[in-house]
Amino acid sequence: MFVDTAKIFVKSGDGGNGSISFRREKYIPLGGPDGGDGGDGGNVILVADPHITTLLDFTYRKKYAAERGGHGEGSKCFGKDGEDLYIKVPMGTVVRDIATDKIMTDMAHAGDQYVVAKGGRGGRGNVRFTTSTRQAPDFAEPGMPGEERWISLELKILADVGLLGFPNVGKSTLLSVVTKAKPKIANYHFTTLNPNLGVVNIQGIPSFVIADIPGIIEGASEGVGLGIKFLRHIERTRVLIHVVDISGIEGRDPFEDFLKINEELKKYSIKLWDRPQIIAANKSDMLYDEEIFEDFKKKVGELGYDKVFRISAATKQGVEDLMKEAARILSTIPITDIEISEEDKFVPEEKKFTYSIREEDEGIFVVEGSFVDRLLASVNVNDPDALRYFHKVLANKGVIQELVDMGIQDGDLVRLNDFEFEFLL
Ligand code: GDP
Ligand code: MG
Repeated sequence: MFVDTAKIFVKSGDGGNGSISFRREKYIPLGGPDGGDGGDGGNVILVADPHITTLLDFTYRKKYAAERGGHGEGSKCFGKDGEDLYIKVPMGTVVRDIATDKIMTDMAHAGDQYVVAKGGRGGRGNVRFTTSTRQAPDFAEPGMPGEERWISLELKILADVGLLGFPNVGKSTLLSVVTKAKPKIANYHFTTLNPNLGVVNIQGIPSFVIADIPGIIEGASEGVGLGIKFLRHIERTRVLIHVVDISGIEGRDPFEDFLKINEELKKYSIKLWDRPQIIAANKSDMLYDEEIFEDFKKKVGELGYDKVFRISAATKQGVEDLMKEAARILSTIPITDIEISEEDKFVPEEKKFTYSIREEDEGIFVVEGSFVDRLLASVNVNDPDALRYFHKVLANKGVIQELVDMGIQDGDLVRLNDFEFEFLL
């Protein structure tokens, strides 16, 4: 089965909590604070791996979570950072954030990495809250929560070289002999419904990815037939190997086939049609009349193709030379990435903490927003020292002033989530 879309859930690790701890030493009744910071949570990171060719794995496993950060401990011990979780995806996977329907990244190149969920920061231990007037802070920050989201993966196969040609000309066979891929090979049309791809590793030339594109058949560009659905998979190839059956055993005219395929290709995409094509005259082991080859060579020569590779996928004759030529042309054409419009681009949520204030009822003021959530998460409001710190942060942020400007009175109630306090000027 060829799976070209998948949806998965990713969650990065929460940050570890900062520690509240005090030094204990012989003869020193009350040591100073020594609570260490919590470790950062692990990230969830996608990696483009050229050896993975489908999204099949993601139909079995849908949830991926990275490790949380360890909690800080006494003696200024830092919590361990959570391990990052790496998820291998095929090259050419386009990643989308489902909630916003924006594109996060295009995993176009081997080894590309992208953080889909960033680990939460570890909280600071109480030793970090020591000031000249606060010698024994009895509070610490809890870790920040990690991120979680559903993402969609869409495989837009990224092959360097695409195999083009009518059904049964030997594309799958050729692919199987130059790579370790095991495509379906059969002697009837339309067998290859799924694109197959593999890595060509030949000594002396840089490796590249080659894809076997299911036969483009007549009418494909108008949506008739099966080919069209898969054409998008070769959109990004840089070089095409156009395979024809030179043996004539199926009664096909290789030159006519060559023209027809190009007509279809042109209707579908001028860009694709414009790619360099290398012509491979396959099944030459079965060539019964040398004239046929010479005639074909002459006709395509008139169209400007001065080279025709005479090969046999079955006996591997001429195949290596063909691959070397593909590698040579590839080296002259830069990789182009897909263009993601500004509008489609995912913008990571800014870690800006905001708040708003409203007077819910007479004498009741509600302060809410991410700033409030964050502050409450980091402060134990039952602790007097922590509470003083809490009020200081409110003042620094300008919340107190804003309340005053709104006309708050002594004794009015201020509510932040489920914490309330009485306002005293
Ligand atoms: P595709 O539809 O283009 O992928 O064609 P396949 O690779 O499935 O091959 C179609 C048929 O042609 C199969 O029976 C192959 O064994 C046969 N075939 C492919 N290449 C050669 C070749 O070089 N010589 C001969 N004699 N047969 C071949
Ligand atoms: Mg095939």
